[in-house]
Amino acid sequence: MIKLFDTHTHYDDSAYEDDRDELITRLLNGNVAGFIAVGCTLERSEKAVRLAEKYPPAYAAVGIHPQDVYNLPPNYLQILEKFAESEKVVALGEIGLEYFRKYDKTQQNKIFREQLELAQSLNLPVIIHSREAFSDTLEFLREYTLKGLKFVCHCFSEDSEAVLSLAELGVYVSFTGAIAFEKNTEKAVNACKNVPLELLLLETDCPYLAPPPFRGKRCDSSMAWYTAQKIAQIKKRTTDEIVEICNDNAMRFFMKGHNHGTRPAET
Ligand SMILES: [Zn+2]
Ligand SMILES: [Zn+2]
Repeated sequence: MIKLFDTHTHYDDSAYEDDRDELITRLLNGNVAGFIAVGCTLERSEKAVRLAEKYPPAYAAVGIHPQDVYNLPPNYLQILEKFAESEKVVALGEIGLEYFRKYDKTQQNKIFREQLELAQSLNLPVIIHSREAFSDTLEFLREYTLKGLKFVCHCFSEDSEAVLSLAELGVYVSFTGAIAFEKNTEKAVNACKNVPLELLLLETDCPYLAPPPFRGKRCDSSMAWYTAQKIAQIKKRTTDEIVEICNDNAMRFFMKGHNHGTRPAET
């Protein structure tokens, strides 16, 4: 049986308070190969690392989300660096820009750049969160791919033109269950068509963005199979083929150069 590797999860969320271990164990015994627990704040980055250390097929990313760049302690970079000493940390993230609701552009840009410098010094790939900020994000990606950094744009919601700019830079593109929502289908479908198969990744961003038929419910990694099914229709492949391709891409993106841990089980 093929299992799916979920590249972006938030199992530290309170939505899992009552049954976290039971759920994760069930998923890993089922059709989920493993997952990356992604940090958003210092506290949640630490939780992501702890979670990853508990389950062999789980990994972690540490970073400060653009919504959480205010009131950081002056030594936050050293704290992140300390977390990254865990052999389960495979990326910096999620970091980036979010020009939505109330925000301070200057502060977001400053913290984003500081974390990109950290990613470079630690030689870690980066999970990007970008919302309503694509052109500024792209400038950073252009600058830092030249310096050798590797990126994935997670929860991708831009158009097909944006995909082409990213593909030129070799930036990976990751889709959540949102690609299967009825209302943004056309833009998302056209964007997905343009993503080269070798740059495609799967994620849930759980507990959010459960794909139909689970829309509005608490999401978990097993539901990424429905996202894969939707992408398979768009790409005219089988769901298993899409899952295998995305698993291989995830191994190459997150695990290559990851020399202090074990690779997730090949499935
Ligand atoms: Zn995000
Ligand atoms: Zn996320």
